Amino acid sequence: MNSRRKALKAITAIPFLGGLIGPSVLTANVAEETLAKPLARDFFKELGLRTFINAAGTYTSMTGSLMHKEVTDAISYGATEYVNLDELHDKVGERIAQLLECEYATVSSGAFGAMTIGLAGIMCGMDEEKVAQLPDTTGLKNEVIVQKGHSIGYTHALINTGAKIVEVTTAKELEKAINKQTVMLWFLNANTEQGEVKWEEFIALGKKHNIPTFIDCAADVPPVENLFKFTKMGFDLVCFSGGKGIRGPQSAGLLLGKRKYIEAARLHTPPRGTTIARGMKVNKEEVLGMLVALELYLARDHKKEWQLWESQIKLISDSASSVKGVETEIHVPPHANHVPSLKIRWDENVVKISKDDMRKQLVNGHPSIETVGNKDEVGITTWMMEPGQERIVAQRVQEILANA
Ligand SMILES: *Cc1c(COP(=O)(O)O)cnc(C)c1O
Repeated sequence: MNSRRKALKAITAIPFLGGLIGPSVLTANVAEETLAKPLARDFFKELGLRTFINAAGTYTSMTGSLMHKEVTDAISYGATEYVNLDELHDKVGERIAQLLECEYATVSSGAFGAMTIGLAGIMCGMDEEKVAQLPDTTGLKNEVIVQKGHSIGYTHALINTGAKIVEVTTAKELEKAINKQTVMLWFLNANTEQGEVKWEEFIALGKKHNIPTFIDCAADVPPVENLFKFTKMGFDLVCFSGGKGIRGPQSAGLLLGKRKYIEAARLHTPPRGTTIARGMKVNKEEVLGMLVALELYLARDHKKEWQLWESQIKLISDSASSVKGVETEIHVPPHANHVPSLKIRWDENVVKISKDDMRKQLVNGHPSIETVGNKDEVGITTWMMEPGQERIVAQRVQEILANA
């Protein structure tokens, strides 16, 4: 049985979940799913903000992803009653662990927050004095080993605890760097290809030296299997963003893995106050929104969704390349943002517009369209669009290129 079928089985086996998201969701496909209806007030317009078609992807600066109605319903529901915050996190943690077939889980403040509290949990265990002491790491193990190719800005989530980063290149160097102060080994899945040491070897090194391993999988769904794969493979902690592929609240995330570390991580979070993660609060609205988004994501027809993205990308690719001098390339990144993606390039002697100006024209047009890229290409994905918007994007791209 594949992971999705298992997850479906797990969902249908829990009566409360059936009730929470409704049986229709279990057979939902992408076309049937709806976004919440707009309210009478147009808040963004009132504020003088332009909304846009997201042909870029899951970017924090673009507010991430859109939530389905079941998710915003759960958020609205959460806003109407009081519960005990710790009890809510306990229950939802158990439920997510059951859905994702791992030991334990918690809803965090994004993948970034998950990294901070996960490491803090490993550093301090269940010792509340140590918890209160951070970010002063006196007397605590405080070195996190990271491969150089993985050491990009996200390691800041780790140094927020007071820990420091030790960079290595080879497995040999990694073993040599391990000492009495080593507290954790951290792996950035998006940069798997930029590091010499791959998953299994990394985990084996951690186990050999009795040091916990953590993998950042923030942008690593799809494929849905990744939600199960890395805890089963043996990473002690795994984190995902809530508001990227899973389309939950953009400020939420998932921390999965070993119960003892996640229980310890929770000691740093609200309602406890004198801790480094007091500002990483996740209240009931986002906890419920995250749970329901995860249930919906597991129940999706992932194959159908993939075919939709492929056809959307092909449509835009065909439109762009119908203009003389324009070339397109369809590709799927191997790790992180693993979705059909398009690169559009052209000879600026033939099509007389720069890539920057093309992106600007797309943003400034009606409707506004956000894309990514650099001075050599315009990049497009369709997975964060609403179905149908690909036609608008295809037409605008062709129009601008043809008129250049
Ligand atoms: C997006 C991202 C993060 C941060 O995740 P948030 O959920 O926004 O906190 C961390 N690491 C990687 C690789 C990411 O792509």
